[in-house]
Amino acid sequence: MNDVAIRTVDLTKTYGDVDALGPIDLEIHEGESVVLIGHNGSGKSTLLNLLAGTLEPSDGMARIFGSDPDSIHVRQRRSWLPDNPVLYDDLSLREHLEFTIRMHGGSGDESIIDELIERLGLSGREEDLPSQFSRGLRQKSAAAVALVRPFFLLLVDEPFVGLDATGRLAFLDLLEEARDGGATLVVATHDPEVIDRFDRGLVLDNGSLIFDGPAVDVRPYLSGSVLS
Ligand code: ADP
Ligand code: MG
Repeated sequence: MNDVAIRTVDLTKTYGDVDALGPIDLEIHEGESVVLIGHNGSGKSTLLNLLAGTLEPSDGMARIFGSDPDSIHVRQRRSWLPDNPVLYDDLSLREHLEFTIRMHGGSGDESIIDELIERLGLSGREEDLPSQFSRGLRQKSAAAVALVRPFFLLLVDEPFVGLDATGRLAFLDLLEEARDGGATLVVATHDPEVIDRFDRGLVLDNGSLIFDGPAVDVRPYLSGSVLS
């Protein structure tokens, strides 16, 4: 078994008197690709934000590669694509990608920028400002920013909403290539058509983990027959 990428023990989040998540005990190993399912408000974004270090637990703990999710060690190794990504107002798409690579000590081989632009269907928009893009194009830009930097763990929150079919397939292929390269993936989605692209499925219901098993077995939970 590979080393542990993510471990949570009694991980719990409350917002005031709302019990949003947990307690969750979870172990995800390096190289696993995990799909996270659950109806609106089930706690998917809360879990991902705790793993992304953008939220503090109310109780329990999360460790990424053995360290605090907010640590520099983890920031260097984890890429995070939130459901509402922030893009700079004054940087072009190409500048976003160049800046992100440099901030994370990319190799200097920047051909990945052109590849991502081309594959995500952003060709011709490189010099434009993503802040002025349509929602779908902004989402593709944010996906490119998340994928352009080196990472060992990628966390993604509902990436397929608003993406056209080509963008969705391109993004799925890129996720699969990252996994084949050894990265660990955790992706929250409602999209039943993408389930088969993942190894393991987790289902959250009302903040509790109610299923953990092969991703293909998550399908009944998506139909609404189990989660109401
Ligand atoms: P999901 O991503 O599965 O839709 P969330 O993690 O966003 O679910 O939300 C889980 C629960 O926590 C919901 O009941 C939601 O209303 C609540 N919640 C999320 N964020 C906040 C917040 N900032 N303040 C108060 N309650 C919140
Ligand atoms: Mg959410």
